Amino acid sequence: MGWLIKRLCAFLALAGAALAAPASAETLPADCVLSSSSAASLEAARADRSWDCSDNHRIDSAPYIWLKFERSGSDRYRHFAMEARPFGDITIYAIGEDGRVHSDRISSDTVSLSGFNDVVGAIPEGKGATGPVYVRIDGYVNYRDPPHVALLETPDQSVRPVNELIFAALLSGLVFAPCVIGIMLAIGLRQSFVAWYAVMCLGMVVTIGMTSGLIVSWTAMALSTFLAFERIGFTLIVFGSCLFARSFIEREALSPLSRAALLWAGIAILGVGAFNAFVVPSPALFGATMLVVLASLVGAIIQAVRRNSRWVRYQIVGWSAPMVLAADMAIKGLGQRGFLNSDMSIVYYAMVWEIAIGAIGVTDRVMLLRADRDRARERALEMEGLAERDPLTGLMNRRAIHKHFEELQADGFTACALLDLDHFKSINDQFGHVVGDDVLTAVGRALAPDEDTLAIRMGGEEFMLLLRGPNAHQRAERRRAAISVRIAREVASLDRIVTASQGVVEFDDAAAQSSSLEAYYMRADNLLYRAKKEGRNRTVAERVSMHEIELPIAQDAA
Ligand code: GH3
Ligand code: MG
Ligand code: MG
Repeated sequence: MGWLIKRLCAFLALAGAALAAPASAETLPADCVLSSSSAASLEAARADRSWDCSDNHRIDSAPYIWLKFERSGSDRYRHFAMEARPFGDITIYAIGEDGRVHSDRISSDTVSLSGFNDVVGAIPEGKGATGPVYVRIDGYVNYRDPPHVALLETPDQSVRPVNELIFAALLSGLVFAPCVIGIMLAIGLRQSFVAWYAVMCLGMVVTIGMTSGLIVSWTAMALSTFLAFERIGFTLIVFGSCLFARSFIEREALSPLSRAALLWAGIAILGVGAFNAFVVPSPALFGATMLVVLASLVGAIIQAVRRNSRWVRYQIVGWSAPMVLAADMAIKGLGQRGFLNSDMSIVYYAMVWEIAIGAIGVTDRVMLLRADRDRARERALEMEGLAERDPLTGLMNRRAIHKHFEELQADGFTACALLDLDHFKSINDQFGHVVGDDVLTAVGRALAPDEDTLAIRMGGEEFMLLLRGPNAHQRAERRRAAISVRIAREVASLDRIVTASQGVVEFDDAAAQSSSLEAYYMRADNLLYRAKKEGRNRTVAERVSMHEIELPIAQDAA
């Protein structure tokens, strides 16, 4: 990142320096343009009657493009420059005072770009020549707006206005950040729409980095390499936009046909873009494919609006301007005049707008996803809680204790009490099941779990207490005694005292660590059995040391 900022600053300084000294090096625009399919020789071109010398003359694709520069007696302008675009050859003709013609040729295969992304050639002439300069561009290919062309004083000037360069350089930096964030989000979230957003951003970084001249200012490259990168960058934007729309708009808001159209339009532009970049530049093929892409996008957007898509709104706000510009570019690629007199800065604005609105849309959607996931997690926790609770008493159930026993043991729960209501069956028989349930609910409250005492309903009218800390036996006994009081108070329809029997086992630390839940249970159950046998309504307890010495420590009778 630091590296990028350094490079960006260097480029800004370069452009800034050029801006600060505008008077020292100027550019001379062309006076007249001739687009011709036949005039290959200078004589034929000069005799041609269709030169356009108006103020708004423009360069369109044609087999031969002629430019005429009047130097009006000045000998300052010694170089011809054209913004980097696909072409075959450029021939520069200078006409001397004596009428003699000097010419020189630039072949696109030999052009290397450095500093700015301009193709620059020296004007062939003797010193002090001031006559007109003609330039013939063969095999020029136009994908978009006409290129800047001019005569320069020095070869290291830019043919383009410096403020346009600064603007583009700033934008490259601006677009880079969402690109990185997009890639990181795509990796983190594994959501396809974020990945396609990142692809789009990447395409923009490449496109703006190339067309602005930023990348060429760092590293010289062959014209063919430059043009390939530029085309691939733009192709990635269009490809990314198709697949972004396909994954971003709700699935139910797009018909299978629309989704397929977006996918295949994306694949088509990727194929055609690669063909244009690496095989033959063909604006007509590219333009035609672009129109197919645009038709798929517009179709999908209309359908999504009709189906009340929420996400398509971002698409409409963010993509309208770029789509209009892209339509204009596609039409120009097809050799027509187009309907906009756009230059690259408008395209840059549109791209940044698209990225910004896209970022807001992506963020909105990611937030919603997160809220969804949070809700799902909460629900899962809730379900887990429900699965581990006894619905009647609200105590933990057998399943919960099996699941958490080891952690609890490690947390110091080394005493276990097993409680069973006395003659509970007769309560059911005499007062009915509903009253029986009320009794069980009252038991749940009497057992009063706290952070050192867990209460578990093991099933039926059998409960377990797991205890830690001092006086476990006494605390268990207090709870057993509380059962009768609680039931008497809360279940008014009973005409008798309900009691419980209990077995309590306390392990010393070492013995606890080597005992399983089954061992706890078996020992407590034996003690409970003894309590029942010895007359019920009592607790039988023992302490277990590592040596398994059984020490009866209390017997409580009513
Ligand atoms: P003892 O003193 O020997 O423990 O006798 P007891 O009658 O309590 O023991 P027994 O195991 O014979 O009877 C337990 C009864 O608990 C039988 C069953 O109908 C009842 N019971 C089990 N679960 C529930 C429940 O959820 N609600 C109600 N109302 N009764 C239940
Ligand atoms: Mg019982
Ligand atoms: Mg029982």
